[in-house]
Amino acid sequence: MATETHSTRADGRGGTGGDDPRAARAKVSDLDVVRHHFDRAWDSLGYPDDIRQIFWEPYREVTVQIPIKTSDGTTRVYHGYRIQHNGARGPYKGGVRFHPEVDIDEVRALASMMTWKTAIAGVPYGGAKGGVDVDPADLDDAELQRVARGFMDKISKVLGPTRDIPAPDVNTNSQVMAWLMDQYGKLHGHTPAIVTGKPISLEGSYGREAATGRGCVFMFQEAAPKVGLVPDETRFVVQGFGNVGSWLARIMQGLGATMIGVSDAFGAIRNDAGIDAQALVRHLHHEGGKLEDFPAAEPISAGDLYEIPCDVFFPAALGGMIHADNADLLDCKMVVEGANNPTTFDADDILIDKGVLIVPDLMANAGGVVASYFEWVQNLQHFRWDEKEINSKLGHILRRTFHEVDQRADHEQQTLRTAAFEISIERVVDASRTRGYFD
Ligand code: NAD
Repeated sequence: MATETHSTRADGRGGTGGDDPRAARAKVSDLDVVRHHFDRAWDSLGYPDDIRQIFWEPYREVTVQIPIKTSDGTTRVYHGYRIQHNGARGPYKGGVRFHPEVDIDEVRALASMMTWKTAIAGVPYGGAKGGVDVDPADLDDAELQRVARGFMDKISKVLGPTRDIPAPDVNTNSQVMAWLMDQYGKLHGHTPAIVTGKPISLEGSYGREAATGRGCVFMFQEAAPKVGLVPDETRFVVQGFGNVGSWLARIMQGLGATMIGVSDAFGAIRNDAGIDAQALVRHLHHEGGKLEDFPAAEPISAGDLYEIPCDVFFPAALGGMIHADNADLLDCKMVVEGANNPTTFDADDILIDKGVLIVPDLMANAGGVVASYFEWVQNLQHFRWDEKEINSKLGHILRRTFHEVDQRADHEQQTLRTAAFEISIERVVDASRTRGYFD
C-alpha cells in the first residue's frame, strides 16, 4: 500500500499475542462497551426512557458489496458499511476503517462514539463511521485503490460536504482519502470538503496527520498534575505504532518524556533506557525494518507489554485491548486512550480500583476530528491556515474540553469517562429536542 505517510497492517483479534490471553482482544464487543457507558450516563441523567432508543441506535445504516478484480484476474468481494448515528448537531462525521475484522457492530459502536466525541469537543458535527472488511496487506496498490473507489461509488449517495464527511482511521491514510475524494468528484464534481485527512497537495490541512497523537499529548499535559506527573520525567508505553501511536510518541519525546515500550501488530520491544521514537519511525517506514529488529531494544511478547512499569500507558491500536485478563497487570498512573474503545467496562472498573486515571477515548483522541473540522472549514472557504495556527487552535479546543469534563467529574465525583458521556449526551439531546426531533 503506497502511502504519503506510512503503511501499517493492523492485525486482528489476538494480534501478536497468539494464544496469550493477555494480548488477545476482549470477547466483549465494542458495541457492548459503548452501550454500557451510554446507558449508565443516560440513567444518571434521568432522561425519559421512551427517547433513549433515538440516541442508542443509528439513524441510518448502509451495507454494500464491493467486488473487485484482483491483479491475477480473479474476483474478490468485500463488504462495506457507512453508519450515520446521529446528525442533530451537524453533518455526520467519522473515519473509514479497512480491517479484515470490520463488521457492522464494530462500525455501529464507532459511529456512536463519533456522536459523543464531536459533541464533547464542541465541533458542529454528528457522528458516523465507515468500514470495509479488507486487509490492505493482502492487496497491491491498484487493488486497494479499486476497493476505495468501489466503496465510494456505493456510498456516495448518503455523503456530501453538508451531509456526511469521511476521514482516515485504521489502515486508511491520506492516499486512501485522495482516492475517495477523486471518486466522489467523478460522480458529483470536484469537492475537496467531502473527506478530511487528505494530502497537503489536495487541500489537506497542515497538522491533520499528527493531530490525533498531538491531542493525546495535550490531554496528557492537562491531566498530568492530577497524578503528580511532569512531562520530562514521564516514562510511557505505546500499544500500536501507527498514525496515532507514532505521532504521540514523537510529540511526547519532544517534551522530554521517555518511551520505554512499544508494540505494533507484529511485535513488541522494550528498553528501560528509552526507545527513540523518531528513529523507530525511520526504521519502520523509511528503511523497511520490523519492530523487533529495532536496535538497542529487547524484543518482548505482546502480552509482556502490559507488565512494563511506567507512568502512562497509551493504547493506540484497536478496541478491546485492555480487558479483564490484563487490566490488573498494568502498572501505571494514567491511561490515555488514543484508540477507540480500548478498555472494556470490567477493565475500566479494575483500573479505577487500582487508582489509575483514565483519560477516555471520547476526549483523548478527539484531536483528529477537531483538525478534520479545521480542514473542512478551510476547504469550504478555499483558504489555508499554517500549522502553527492549526496546532494553537487545536490546543485551545482540547484544553477547554479537558477542563469542562474535569470540572464536571470533580463536581459530581465521577470519572472523566462518565462526565464526558453525560456532557455529550446532554448536548446531543438538547440539539435534537430544539430541532423538534421528538415532536
Ligand atoms: P493505523 O492503522 O495507522 O495504526 C494502527 C496500529 O496499531 C498499527 O501500528 C498496527 O500495527 C497496530 N496494531 C494493530 N493490532 C495490534 C495489536 N493487536 N497489538 C498491537 N498493535 C496493534 O491506525 P490509527 O489511525 O493510528 O488508529 C489507531 C486507533 O486510534 C484506532 O482505534 C482508531 O480508531 C483510533 N483513532 C484514530 C484517529 C486518526 O485520526 N487516525 C482518530 C481517532 C481515533
